[in-house]
Amino acid sequence: MKTIRLLQLYPSEMNIYGDWGNTLTLKRRLEWRGYRVELLEHHPGADFPMDVDLIVGGGGQDSGQDKIKDDLIKIGPQLQKLADQNVPMLMICGLYQLFGRFFQTHKGERIEGIGIFKLETYGGPKRLIGNVVARSDDFGEIVGYENHSGLTRLDEDQASLGTVVKGDGNNGEDGTEGARYKNVVGSYLHGSLLPKNPRLADFLIEKTIEKKYGKVELQPIDDTLVKNARSIAKSRPR
Ligand code: GLN
Repeated sequence: MKTIRLLQLYPSEMNIYGDWGNTLTLKRRLEWRGYRVELLEHHPGADFPMDVDLIVGGGGQDSGQDKIKDDLIKIGPQLQKLADQNVPMLMICGLYQLFGRFFQTHKGERIEGIGIFKLETYGGPKRLIGNVVARSDDFGEIVGYENHSGLTRLDEDQASLGTVVKGDGNNGEDGTEGARYKNVVGSYLHGSLLPKNPRLADFLIEKTIEKKYGKVELQPIDDTLVKNARSIAKSRPR
């Protein structure tokens, strides 16, 4: 049976507001297409497994980021290598920030990131909280929920994931949300993100299968429930 090795980064420290749902969604949508999924976890201090096919990471408090920062710097070159080899990854909020160059807290403490994304994040004076709708050329309308104080600025040549229609996204000013490098997607959106955004989930799945087993035409899934959830989420007040 074809097997996909799906790795969750720092599930104890970086995994809030339902981010675990992203891993579950990838697992179920792969299983529905007949793949076996091996779930792996990477914890601080452990050896990093390079033989992984798909990587997911979630958000966390500033204190969670502090706990994993040394380990992330240690495994950064391995993650960069996998990213360059087109391995799909999804990083939400706290880990999205640390996939950039750094996150500087409101108090001025700097947590270094691994620079896969060309972006920098500065802790702001207030939290940006609420439902978000963004538009993306590659993934259509993206629906999610944000809760962060970090304000992220993309370098001019860093692609965003999309443009916000409702909500703040990267910084509440330039209209961008998230970032994309090859098959690595970063986003502020919890919710969880993937259960409500099957197009994005299937992009990650398709790229994962393609890399390991060659071109694939994904069998469609009945996403009626998702469509209902999306339209309710979109109609919710900010
Ligand atoms: N600590 C970061 C911030 O508030 C990340 C928050 C999160 O991951 N939800 O910007």
